[in-house]
Amino acid sequence: EHKMILPRIRQLDEGAVNRIAAGEVVERPASAVKELVENALDAQSTRVQVDISDGGRTLIRVTDDGHGIAAADLPLALSRHATSKIDGSDLLNVHSFGFRGEALPSLGAVGRLTITSRATGSDGAAMIHVSGGRIDPPKPAALRAGTVVELRDLFHATPARLKFLKTERSETMAVTDTIKRLAMAEPGVSFILRDTSDGGDRVVFRADAAATLADRLATVLGRDFAANALAIDAERDGVRLTGHAGLPTYSRGNAVHQYLFVNGRPVRDKMLTGALRGAYMDVLSKDRHPVAVLFVTCDPTMVDCNVHPAKTEVRFRDAGIVRGLIVSGLRHALAGAGHRASTTVAK
Ligand code: ADP
Ligand code: MG
Repeated sequence: EHKMILPRIRQLDEGAVNRIAAGEVVERPASAVKELVENALDAQSTRVQVDISDGGRTLIRVTDDGHGIAAADLPLALSRHATSKIDGSDLLNVHSFGFRGEALPSLGAVGRLTITSRATGSDGAAMIHVSGGRIDPPKPAALRAGTVVELRDLFHATPARLKFLKTERSETMAVTDTIKRLAMAEPGVSFILRDTSDGGDRVVFRADAAATLADRLATVLGRDFAANALAIDAERDGVRLTGHAGLPTYSRGNAVHQYLFVNGRPVRDKMLTGALRGAYMDVLSKDRHPVAVLFVTCDPTMVDCNVHPAKTEVRFRDAGIVRGLIVSGLRHALAGAGHRASTTVAK
């Protein structure tokens, strides 16, 4: 007969809670870059600069010219579920990239994070530092405007995660891809990504502020794409589909050049990529993938972005409408360009 030891329930401390949350929000340097650049965009920045060293493992620094953070709010920026973007009353009506108030505390739990900011209208800047979840009190700093967020030694406190990072080259590629997606979402903002490894300053990607989406796409995807893509504009039951879809002759061996946005937010969603594949099913062989930049726009209450902490998955109230819109909208455009499938084209 063995004695049962009754396990007691205890509340985890904030550091542990943040490390657990970080596991979902920060998978690799590119996810940290995504969160920080989204914050810069939410702050109405017109210029976003990202510096990384060693694929983002030793340094990620995002500099913006946005509205900044009031000195008194800096500790709040590092506290969990604290946000300036929603009041919590309507989670289905979100217009900013961020709203969960989780990114900064999570990053502060898995790296050494320093935020320096000068709020619009303030006569001075301030900085705050957090490392391994320990927050130093804010102090005065020198900065003309905007915000600089510096994240050093990502995952130094979680060696298991560190081991899963890929080569510097592939982490840099993932960071570049993340910035390209956000650059397509915000054509009017200028972006620059530099590799500052070993004290260098090599420009990896650069997009000056563009007047139109087409100009921005030419910068990100090359002029070739525009010449080989069809303009898409379709609508069904309050859902609108716009963007550009590559001709079947411009297809690729993998699906990495598919850029999907829902209400301006870059997403990676199985339903949407499945619909895209379905639209080209009859005009592309199985091992070929279309290049496409597609924007789904609908009333925010028709889509839930709060499916996963990274906010890249979405759930539509009526997925059938969206799927049907993509398949028929693209097939219609392809048929118009003479790429009619042998089977009947869906109306
Ligand atoms: P969320 O973006 O979900 O609100 P974060 O943890 O990413 O949560 O950021 C917390 C808060 O810090 C934001 O709500 C915002 O007020 C402020 N903040 C973060 N980054 C910036 C920035 N670059 N410029 C201005 N404010 C920022
Ligand atoms: Mg955020």
